[in-house]
Amino acid sequence: MAVAQFEKAADHLDLDSNLRERFRSPQRALVVSVPVRMDTGKVKVFQGYRVQHDRSLGPSKGGIRYHPEVNLGEISALAMWMTWKCALMGLPYGGAKGGVNCNPKELSFYELQRLTRRFTSEIVLWIGPEQDIPAPDVGTNEQIMGWMMDTYSQQKGYAVPGVVTGKPIGIGGSKGREEATGRGVVDTVIEAFKHLDISPSHSTAGIQGFGNVGVNAARLLHERGVKVIAVNDSQGGVFNPKGLDIPQLIQHKTQHKTVQGFPHAEPIKNEELLCLPCTALIPSALSEQITEKNAHNLQCKILAEGANGPTTLEADQILIDKGVFIIPDILANAGGVIVSYFEWVQDLQNYFWKEKEINEKLFEIISATFYQVLELSQKKRVSMRMAALMQGIDKISKAHLARGLYP
Ligand code: NAD
Repeated sequence: MAVAQFEKAADHLDLDSNLRERFRSPQRALVVSVPVRMDTGKVKVFQGYRVQHDRSLGPSKGGIRYHPEVNLGEISALAMWMTWKCALMGLPYGGAKGGVNCNPKELSFYELQRLTRRFTSEIVLWIGPEQDIPAPDVGTNEQIMGWMMDTYSQQKGYAVPGVVTGKPIGIGGSKGREEATGRGVVDTVIEAFKHLDISPSHSTAGIQGFGNVGVNAARLLHERGVKVIAVNDSQGGVFNPKGLDIPQLIQHKTQHKTVQGFPHAEPIKNEELLCLPCTALIPSALSEQITEKNAHNLQCKILAEGANGPTTLEADQILIDKGVFIIPDILANAGGVIVSYFEWVQDLQNYFWKEKEINEKLFEIISATFYQVLELSQKKRVSMRMAALMQGIDKISKAHLARGLYP
């Protein structure tokens, strides 16, 4: 899917065939075995990956995913999208992604810690503040980033906060990072409302996935007066046409580890949630959720892709034909990597910024990019997704041409 999207954008750009060949596959892909002593005393071996797609603009950057479906293909696709996303946002990074094939929900706290430390030491020669900087993604969080930072620092002999982003604030994390992806999604949705002349107080939203991205998107939409009418997670969903009480729902999720069973709401199935009539639908879980099977039934005006790759190529075309305004993943969910970039800059300078400053700088970058993409899509008569990809790919192509081919 990532390669097919790339090929389409490359056609629009009339991209040099030598560059095409290079961009189709990652610069490097590392597969590691991660032996972990389980609490039972037995050793279990997990497969881990780190893929660096491009490093022409600076170190590579991308999250670490812990999920039972993690594989080399998925991680490589996510790494490619990171390259286009960072370039689109004007960040001095290439794209990377990593992950371990495991089910973190079945691992104890100490098993998770041992797995993270061993995985980090298996990829230690590949990462670093000047080389490649991991961050949280599905199934990982600031605690896991803290362990990665500590493992790397133990091997160096001194604290290296800039090796990962999304770590706890007490060890060099940034204010605003935890909510940054959700905040960026909401910033782009509000700009889309302005563009389409929709008032937030007369609009509704449905959110698939209630983890880091979904929770923060729901909270910030609720604060801006948008009625969040449905959300779900891997165990089930809840719906209230009058709007869910999001602060209470977050409390419920923290207590029960799921949104299921939340009072003052009806249960809703995943497929029903995706097809609800609403102003903005925000997929914030996994990839390939909107396919040719369900795209015809979607009833949203705006699709804001909090998740990476939630819409298949076929579904994308169906939605365009239906007139849905799509804010593509590399634009909608870029808030995370933008504030990760701020975190890295703060770590390198040992000088930390105020939260207000971070949120304002995030808004400046993401809203300006939103309008650049919108303008390009109107000028070239292409979809928002194509325009975003074209802008990102064009920047990387120019960097490769300026640097030339070694040797
Ligand atoms: P997370 O692990 O915190 O949350 C994922 C959520 O999705 C959980 O609530 C889970 O229960 C839910 N989920 C899983 N399968 C589901 C299903 N079939 N139906 C409904 N819900 C389901 O992960 P996250 O960090 O919030 O990431 C979510 C998406 O956003 C991913 O695609 C990720 O790549 C993307 N993303 C995350 C960040 C970030 O900073 N965390 C940045 C950019 C993009």
